Amino acid sequence: MATSVVPESLLSRNPHFRNEIADMIWPSCWEEDLDVWTGHAWSYTPLCISVNATDPQLCVYTDTVFANGGGISIVAQPSMARQLTKHPMLQTPGLRVQSSGNHQKSTDQYEMQSLPGRGIGVVAKSKLERGTLLMSETPIIAFQQDTMKMPGSLGELFLLHKTAVERLPPKSRDTYMSMDDGGFVADFYGDRFESNAFNVLDYVLVFPMIARINHDCRPNIEYYFDRKSFSNQVHVLRTIQPGEEITGSYISHDMPFEKRSERLRDQWGFTCTCAACSASREAIEASDNRLKQMKQFEEELEQIKSRRTALTETAERLISLYEEENIHGPIAKAYEFAALEYSYAGHKWKAKRYAKMAVDAGRLWRGPSDPGVKRMEALLENPEIHPSWRRLSS
Ligand SMILES: [Zn+2]
Repeated sequence: MATSVVPESLLSRNPHFRNEIADMIWPSCWEEDLDVWTGHAWSYTPLCISVNATDPQLCVYTDTVFANGGGISIVAQPSMARQLTKHPMLQTPGLRVQSSGNHQKSTDQYEMQSLPGRGIGVVAKSKLERGTLLMSETPIIAFQQDTMKMPGSLGELFLLHKTAVERLPPKSRDTYMSMDDGGFVADFYGDRFESNAFNVLDYVLVFPMIARINHDCRPNIEYYFDRKSFSNQVHVLRTIQPGEEITGSYISHDMPFEKRSERLRDQWGFTCTCAACSASREAIEASDNRLKQMKQFEEELEQIKSRRTALTETAERLISLYEEENIHGPIAKAYEFAALEYSYAGHKWKAKRYAKMAVDAGRLWRGPSDPGVKRMEALLENPEIHPSWRRLSS
């Protein structure tokens, strides 16, 4: 795809922007000093509110050129925003305008569809194999994570949020406003945010297309944030057939039925009807028992100081439980346990086999730079010099 470089001079201080909201409410908050500008050519004068005397400002920063015109609004203290502007994606003009199928409603692989009882969802257009990179999306909104705890009125936060959305390029703004509000209607901007945001690093980020992926407690995709490209990556966890809905999980895979139902209801306002949650009572009970058993096995496998033998069989059983539960991402953890147990026992080929499986699953689950993936890559390369090698064989 063609990329072009937009001269910096075109980006700065849009003269057509009218700042009447801010002028009306906080006339004294407008500061043109460099502290607030953070040294970046933002597309608008940052709108700031005073939080308290020692840490005075929380501002909205918008760069409409970011990610090939997808744009981004950052709500943060100037010091935090300054940190973020050091990222190559914001600093390098060529990267700033790079496009990678960002914010696309439809590709050869998927499309957005209205689904009965589920609002809009993402549906596969073609057969998708495990490992396929389905989406790679940059955020359009980044909220400093602790802003909600800062002193200041809800009205002020609302204004920041509203400004952050309104200053986005029209296409991104419309996409944001069409996102699901989770059924809560108290705050026009905030509810969409609450229902669709991801906690990443020190920020809460909104990825508008990825936000369209509906929840399933046993999902067929996994997402992780890739720091280098400043984007959320979506990978396929198992074969997905054309017409099948693409689903991700909003919660941790190890929550039992009651607990996860409550969390989904409280935080996202829906009752989960996925296959795992709408199964018979017996099946749900069996699934809860498997989850409990998995936790027990993991605890046993973690204790290596107090034992003298490798628990290869426990690790194998743990893998089976993950398989039975259809948990295809976090199963990487079970493979890692198995690789280590076989390495403890001095079984080179089995250790390598499971290390390879841990690397493959871990890359989809947490990304290639995940510490677990790195550990398993080292084991895979040469088990005999790995610290775990023959550690428990006598
Ligand atoms: Zn469910």
